[in-house]
Amino acid sequence: MVRTLDSIETVGVVGAGTMGSGIAQVAAQAGYDVVMRDIKEAFVEDGFDTIEESLDRFVSKEKLSEAEAEATRDRIAGTTDLADLADCDVVVEAAVEDMEIKRDIFADLDEAVPEDVVLATNTSTLSITTIAAATDREERVVGLHFMNPVPVMKGVEVVVGEKTDGEVTEFAHALAEDLGKETWESDDKPGFVTNRILMPWLNEGIRAYDEGVASKEDVDKGMKLGTNVPMGPLELADHIGLDICLDASQTLHEELGDRYKPAYLLKRKVDAGDLGKKTGQGFYEY
Ligand code: NAD
Repeated sequence: MVRTLDSIETVGVVGAGTMGSGIAQVAAQAGYDVVMRDIKEAFVEDGFDTIEESLDRFVSKEKLSEAEAEATRDRIAGTTDLADLADCDVVVEAAVEDMEIKRDIFADLDEAVPEDVVLATNTSTLSITTIAAATDREERVVGLHFMNPVPVMKGVEVVVGEKTDGEVTEFAHALAEDLGKETWESDDKPGFVTNRILMPWLNEGIRAYDEGVASKEDVDKGMKLGTNVPMGPLELADHIGLDICLDASQTLHEELGDRYKPAYLLKRKVDAGDLGKKTGQGFYEY
């Protein structure tokens, strides 16, 4: 049995860092009570500071009223005690990108919260299936991959583990949509859709700079003006956090090996004469 969205009142968030504080904020902005947990009081306080700054920006841009910002703040409680998540109706984990730490957290959550509560992880690259296996509720564990900065970015990737129940997947989509997001779905394969494609791009940008192809400014400018993306690879890597990028890249490297050969499907499409828009057929039909 899975809780339906209309029975959800309190959202638990594990980790009050870049992502956890953002997830806590959007959940509170959507009207949920939130319990945000980190391992030290100072980290919880840092999370509240991040939320405060973000709410101030929304207020100054007139995207949120002072009263709405105030109400959002009031809905978030901070704690260092995992037991305080016991009354949560859903929990989203956004602690550090480390499989052992995540598995320990999920094993503890499995003990701490009722068994029909869905446990979601915001992992960027780690296997949902492996994290879920630390619990006795593998069918109620799902990936809910928010993008950074959470209060601004519209997209959430729903990641379906080997044992994730279909109802839980639907619940994850519905919850993210209720937080004002749009979703897409990925199977539990390394890096999912986004990081599987993004990480080689970031690393290639870093290599291009390191190997003297261009200055860092020109690598970023070239990709922005040349390919119409809002940030170049070096800027974006800084924005994500280089430690997060390295962890994600190492996971992908271990799991996928050398990804730089031309894709087989690319060659097959070209051989077939399906060259994209110009022939009316590429990966899409035009
Ligand atoms: P962060 O370092 O800013 O925050 C992580 C927080 O988790 C820290 O405050 C840390 O004290 C806390 N923590 C560590 N162990 C904990 C535990 N046992 N219980 C509770 N809290 C604990 O990292 P982040 O950038 O917020 O990333 C968090 C997760 O989100 C990672 O899995 C990361 O891969 C994923 N993610 C990050 C981004 C990004 O752009 N930064 C984007 C999408 C997903």
